[in-house]
Amino acid sequence: MTSAEWHKIAIERMPGGVNSPVRSFKHVGGNPIFFQRGEGAHLYDVEGKRYIDFCLSFGPHLLGHSHPRVVAALKEQAELATSFGACHPKEVELAGLILGAFPYLHQVRLVNSGTEAVMTAIRLARGFTGKAKVIKFEGTYHGHSDALLAKAGSGVAELSESTSQGVPDAIVKETLMCRYDDLGSLEAMLEANRDQVAAVLFEAIPANHSLWVPDKAHVKKCVELARRYGCVVIFDEVITGFRIGKGGSAAHFGIEPDLVCLGKIIGGGLPLAAIAGKKEIMQKLAPVGPVYQAGTLSGNPLASAAGIAVLSEIFEKSPYASLEFSTQAFVVGLREILGAWGEFQIRSLGSIFWINFGKEDKAFPPDISAEGAATYRKFFKAALDAGIYFAPSPYEVGFVSLAHTPEVLNEALDKLSKLKP
Ligand code: PMP
Repeated sequence: MTSAEWHKIAIERMPGGVNSPVRSFKHVGGNPIFFQRGEGAHLYDVEGKRYIDFCLSFGPHLLGHSHPRVVAALKEQAELATSFGACHPKEVELAGLILGAFPYLHQVRLVNSGTEAVMTAIRLARGFTGKAKVIKFEGTYHGHSDALLAKAGSGVAELSESTSQGVPDAIVKETLMCRYDDLGSLEAMLEANRDQVAAVLFEAIPANHSLWVPDKAHVKKCVELARRYGCVVIFDEVITGFRIGKGGSAAHFGIEPDLVCLGKIIGGGLPLAAIAGKKEIMQKLAPVGPVYQAGTLSGNPLASAAGIAVLSEIFEKSPYASLEFSTQAFVVGLREILGAWGEFQIRSLGSIFWINFGKEDKAFPPDISAEGAATYRKFFKAALDAGIYFAPSPYEVGFVSLAHTPEVLNEALDKLSKLKP
């Protein structure tokens, strides 16, 4: 069966034919591709067509698809058990590897998704401080929990509004929105809500609405302000953790957050995420403390085995310099090619990159123009036809894996250079 045939059935059986909205190709038009297999830097669709993958499941595959060490770990674990709903050594081993990368943190709780990790971090911060409000920055994404589907109200002093129907105003009103590129906005919000803010939640290098790499000094000042007002500092490293380096954006900025949320890479492509934190906060979690959190599949042995395989490979190989080198080479090549499509910029950090068509907007969150989005749509479609899979949205970043060898990247550049705008 073709992707188009699968799509026809999928939209009957599932809303939009998908289990997560961005996959529906809503931002880029056309029908989504249905995939069958991933290997290294490549994806193969149900019709056998091969794609060079720069979306990489939105970030988990630092080693590429189906890395032999991950596959072997999964096979070995699958023979033993897929879920215990009870204690087992692999979850302890994985927690140890995570703490090895965040030596200033003391304990870990494993959960099933980034959404759950951030939701739990917020509950913990509230339980720990006894305060209810949380500050979030415009343009950052932290998953789909009710409290975080918030946007700034229409006036400066207005309460936040929900970005989704089904989320009561009473819930998002505890989520205060600031501008990340404006220290004054954070200070004013903290001052206006003195003694009421439990946590400031950072996606310190925002990578869900463009890629924005702030000055170290700016991030340090934001964190200092949060601390001065007695807030728990939460870094959401679901994308950046183990992606831009072992210690994520926190290490990049030289900051030691109180709680760190991880996901994607630490599960090796399986549903696993984590909250790592300082002991005095983590000890508030049930069963030790009064903040409740639980999960039938939490610390799942298959996902833990995959996570251990990936993190062990990272610790043994220290892949970050090589990932950055190949990403830079790819970005240099892209810069020579993309001019044919009109005005553009490419931002990159480590093995993350973001392509934007249209005028540069240095503010965060930047405006992505309707024309820029339309050019991205055309570029995405042409690249897809040529066997190159970018993220199906102009807001999303791209990723490079260790399986993207110079040969693979040159093949991608060669194909992209032949596209007709
Ligand atoms: N935080 C960040 C920074 C993310 O990028 C994402 C997902 N892309 C999430 C949280 C939510 O993770 P999940 O999709 O696993 O729930």
